[in-house]
Amino acid sequence: MFDLVIRNGRLVSPDATTPGTIGISGSSIATIAPPGEQIVGANEIDATGMLILPGLVDAHVHIPGFLLSSRLDDFTSASKAAAAGGVTTVLLMPTDDPRTATPFYFEQKRDSGIGRSYIDYALQAIVGPMSESIDDLAALGAVSFELFLAYGGMPNFIIGNDDYELARTLRLIRDVGGIAGITPHSPSLIARLTAEHRDDPDPTVATIAATRSILSEALGIARACTAAADTRAQIHIRAVSSRQSLDLIRRFKDLAALSSEVMSHHLLFDAEDAKRMGAYGVITPPLRHASERAALQDAVRAGEIDMVVSDHSPHLREDKERGQADIWTAPPGMTGLQTLCASMLALIDDGKLTLQDMVRTCCENPARWFRLYPRKGTLRSGADADIVILNPSQPTLISDSDQHSKADYTTLAGRKISARIERVLLRGQTIFADGGFPSAPTGRFVRP
Ligand SMILES: [Zn+2]
Repeated sequence: MFDLVIRNGRLVSPDATTPGTIGISGSSIATIAPPGEQIVGANEIDATGMLILPGLVDAHVHIPGFLLSSRLDDFTSASKAAAAGGVTTVLLMPTDDPRTATPFYFEQKRDSGIGRSYIDYALQAIVGPMSESIDDLAALGAVSFELFLAYGGMPNFIIGNDDYELARTLRLIRDVGGIAGITPHSPSLIARLTAEHRDDPDPTVATIAATRSILSEALGIARACTAAADTRAQIHIRAVSSRQSLDLIRRFKDLAALSSEVMSHHLLFDAEDAKRMGAYGVITPPLRHASERAALQDAVRAGEIDMVVSDHSPHLREDKERGQADIWTAPPGMTGLQTLCASMLALIDDGKLTLQDMVRTCCENPARWFRLYPRKGTLRSGADADIVILNPSQPTLISDSDQHSKADYTTLAGRKISARIERVLLRGQTIFADGGFPSAPTGRFVRP
């Protein structure tokens, strides 16, 4: 007798969609039985007509409001958004306070999710010129070590143009068996392009986009891949947004141990959409021409990009609105945790991707590359019972009023998708159903 049985549903894997019955004991999947086999549970869910997916693993998430008093998206609000969107594990980027550059800050962030997070979470560490903590952070379970090759605002954590530091840091990460997350771009190009456009008479979202050129992105990727090939460090390329970047990743695939990601926004929107959104369309890297978007969609379908992430950046409405008056002040980034699955469903509706693509790039691959597999990202015996039950024939209108993040809007508002998330389980417990959250937050810290 199992604790819970989910029967009559169709199970989605990276290879196929097949009927099956899931038996859950405690917090784990105990068996996947073929449809004819009779298994019994103390509790049962009839999933007739439903699709059953592994809980999504979002490998690129920002939660800026760790402090309890913060006005920004915090563990509770962000993890509710995640749960409502079918994401059951997040990998948290290290740039939000407390920045996980030292064991002390790492432990502080790790512990701040206990009793507050509705979903499981892993932590990424940040490294910069002062990289002495890498050993200790690895021992604490950092899922990656993030290197920022160009971005401003974090002067102590940017490798910048310093190739000596880049190679040295990659070797240190390699020596602890870690993964280096690479946020690419060229600092000198960004600085000069920004100066060039600073006095443009009527700056728009396209002006900001021009400061983060495709060449800048490609130079950062080429530099990181070259250093990774030389040092034999494993790297993960973040936020790929152009064909040129894809070409480089293809060429380096055999030379370096590398994985890559694309944000769901770059698969769904292009520069024309950004124009319409104004400050809400300002993200880094920028939304690019429709032809770049098509190339990214093709690359996901072809398995050339390993994962799709949300890069959830929950800037409050009031902060984005300031950017409507002066686009240079628009904080870059979009909300996305609650709409990652919805974005993929929209792309599936449009015939651009398949359910298999979604489970491969949003569940299995992020768990595999960041070494949380097979505990996360898959429906198989022994895995955590993190499960999304999806009704494929319940059209859903995405709206601002349904968003749970403190950034209570979405660039997908008004879009209709053909499916609805009916229920989400974390380690066998229902964490989202009928639009609500039936249990207290039980999310845990997970480590490779
Ligand atoms: Zn990010």
